[in-house]
Amino acid sequence: MSLDGWIHRKSKAAGKAARKHLDALPDGLWTKCPKCGEILFSKELEKNLMVCNKCSYHFKLASPQRLEVTVDDGSFVEMDAGLSTVNTLEFPQYDAKIQKLTAASGLNDGMVTGTATIGGYPVVIGVADFRFLAGSMGSVYGEKVTRLFEKGLAEKLPVLIVNCSGGARMQEGLLSLMQMAKTSAAAGKFGEAGLMYIALFTDPTMAGVHASFAMLADVIIAEPGALIGLAGQRVAAQAQVMKEPPGYRLSEWQQDHGMVDMVLPRREIKDTLVKLLAAGSHGGSHGA
Ligand SMILES: [Zn+2]
Repeated sequence: MSLDGWIHRKSKAAGKAARKHLDALPDGLWTKCPKCGEILFSKELEKNLMVCNKCSYHFKLASPQRLEVTVDDGSFVEMDAGLSTVNTLEFPQYDAKIQKLTAASGLNDGMVTGTATIGGYPVVIGVADFRFLAGSMGSVYGEKVTRLFEKGLAEKLPVLIVNCSGGARMQEGLLSLMQMAKTSAAAGKFGEAGLMYIALFTDPTMAGVHASFAMLADVIIAEPGALIGLAGQRVAAQAQVMKEPPGYRLSEWQQDHGMVDMVLPRREIKDTLVKLLAAGSHGGSHGA
């Protein structure tokens, strides 16, 4: 046997042994924490709302999971689910990418909006989904956020937006950047009516989303350890505008410096939302 053949056979055997080991751990039964490396029992992790019980790392939640831990069971009614992206700039491979992501996630875009109740209080809610092009904001995303504020304004309901976004979507160029102005204007108009706008910053809340409607909220809650800011570390380093203090982009630093109102572990967020909504409803005409 040639040396090559022997190596091939040996590696095949090693592969088989590895698979045998993996067979004892069926896919999805265990999840490795990306922060501390602990191997976590997936069912336990889910019970713990996808927070590592060793280091408190908060895993990203897909929009259905986020709704499940945030709104009252069965109360979510989706709006504008049919809005879908048009590749106006004919950006190469953009259509194919969208189609693939839609097939994989069942979403038309990275922002899911609708109405729901939280602790019995009605809200208009938007939830970003990082699986869809890093929760980036394009035209559909911006339009959905705008309609969210318009719905809140028309029905005099508070708005809650759960952010999880890398920023504006590069495949839509200037059209993405225009969404920053459009969503900010909608948030401004909503705010003028004296209605409550709550934002939840999860990891990450960055760039075009952070620098537009996200920062305009009346109350900003952040999950622990979330990246928050305008420019990522690499971009900021290239610009060399300032020497950054350690932890500058993390929720805790942002709270210490007045950019975030409170940093709360995932398990405490819903109760806090209920209290805020109760306070905002002027004596609690709604709710449980
Ligand atoms: Zn961990």
